[in-house]
Amino acid sequence: YQLRKHATWSRTSLNALNSSIDETNYQPSNNGQGPYAASEGRALNGARVAIKDNIVTAKESRLPSTASSAILFQHASPFEATVVSILRQHGAVIDGKTNLDEFGMGSHSQKSHFGPVKNLYLRNGQPLSAGGSSGGSAVAVASGHYDLALGTDTGGSVRLPAAYTGVVGFKPSYGLLSRWGVIQYANSLDTVGILANTVKNVTKIFGILNQFDTRDPTSLSQNTRSRLGRNDERISSLRIGVPTEYNIDEMSPIVRDCYRDTLKRLQSAGHTIVPVSLPSVQQALSAYYILAPAEASSNLAKFDGIRYGTRSSGSDSSPKESLPLYARTRGDGFGEEVKRRILLGAYTLSSEAVDNYFIQAQKVRRIVQRDFDKVFDQQNPLHDTDTTDNDKQGVDVLLTPTAPTEPPTLREVHQQTPVQSYMNDVFTVPASLAGLPAISVPINVTKALQNTDALTEGANVGMQIIGQFGSDHTVLDAAQLLA
Ligand code: GLN
Repeated sequence: YQLRKHATWSRTSLNALNSSIDETNYQPSNNGQGPYAASEGRALNGARVAIKDNIVTAKESRLPSTASSAILFQHASPFEATVVSILRQHGAVIDGKTNLDEFGMGSHSQKSHFGPVKNLYLRNGQPLSAGGSSGGSAVAVASGHYDLALGTDTGGSVRLPAAYTGVVGFKPSYGLLSRWGVIQYANSLDTVGILANTVKNVTKIFGILNQFDTRDPTSLSQNTRSRLGRNDERISSLRIGVPTEYNIDEMSPIVRDCYRDTLKRLQSAGHTIVPVSLPSVQQALSAYYILAPAEASSNLAKFDGIRYGTRSSGSDSSPKESLPLYARTRGDGFGEEVKRRILLGAYTLSSEAVDNYFIQAQKVRRIVQRDFDKVFDQQNPLHDTDTTDNDKQGVDVLLTPTAPTEPPTLREVHQQTPVQSYMNDVFTVPASLAGLPAISVPINVTKALQNTDALTEGANVGMQIIGQFGSDHTVLDAAQLLA
């Protein structure tokens, strides 16, 4: 088995993949009787789940755990991620790992050591981006080969591929799903996310995975979880916020029409549309691209060929080698984008730059969180109570497009500079910086367009619903309205 085999997700390679894995050879170490034993029967009996390959599966499963990186090419994990164990113990069949941008760094799933992910869709014969970095997971679901898939979402990596491939992608509130066994990219932002064809299935998996894990120090405690319950009341008539700052020039006419149509439909269904302002989101993307690489540069320091990772050949004392072994190992083991982020992160954390970049970006992050708190009706259960504005009437959720455009062609993607490619995440990163729950739901584009002549092939569009921290069920309920 090689990840490369199903990097393209062609039907034949998937069948080969499936038949090559003998399920009976894998037994969960506690036979399903551990702390996550199914309490409601085997709720996922037989459901086929694909797992993004930066979430580890134990070596007994004979599945790899590479984060799509050369440096982890031969990595076999001695343990299994909590989220994977929980799914298995509920009867899920886990027989596939999916391709991603190396360590989750990218928006189009083109930057993998195992080759690019291909979307199912073409435009004028040109292949389209599947979004990233969980593009492999999104295509696994969109192609119908898997019932659902796990991805990770640091700045939009579940939501963007969901939007580009026409499936549902949910990033829960930070700290609800265990990150134990998730190969870190930027741990203050990393979350496990769920991809499926329906909001109902996403909700079901979320219900199963949403539990405290003692092994993840950022997993929210039972105590905090019980406080979140109060934020999660079911609301029948929603106040839906439309942030004016999301109305950017770069939004394509198709996305604009879909946005307008969705708002119209919600309004006729009796929900109230409220314009709101989130001034700081304009700085969110820049702050994200300082903070995420800074954390990555620190997290990825352990991949040095000594503690983790495939070591390059030769030794420090070998006269042929101009570079020390450590430098060669990291030079050979990381791709170009990962190296860019490590360098960027090392720079912004350096004494010369930290005040101007890292500290400023942390401040922006705080302001983004406050801006969200100001517009939501619900209090943020993690922040101090704001007593100054008790009778404000805020919104229950926010509605925005998931991405400013429909999926670009790969040719367009390859012409983009790194900064242009970071622009794809402009609508997803604000919720990540604030740790908020957010979901992308596919829109029926043909129905939404005023002028169907404008319709182009493969024009998948997702709408994003964002909620207050801990209001995950409100977000899922609102998403159901769009389905
Ligand atoms: N595209 C973003 C990045 O490269 C988001 C990635 C993610 O969410 N893992 O950082």
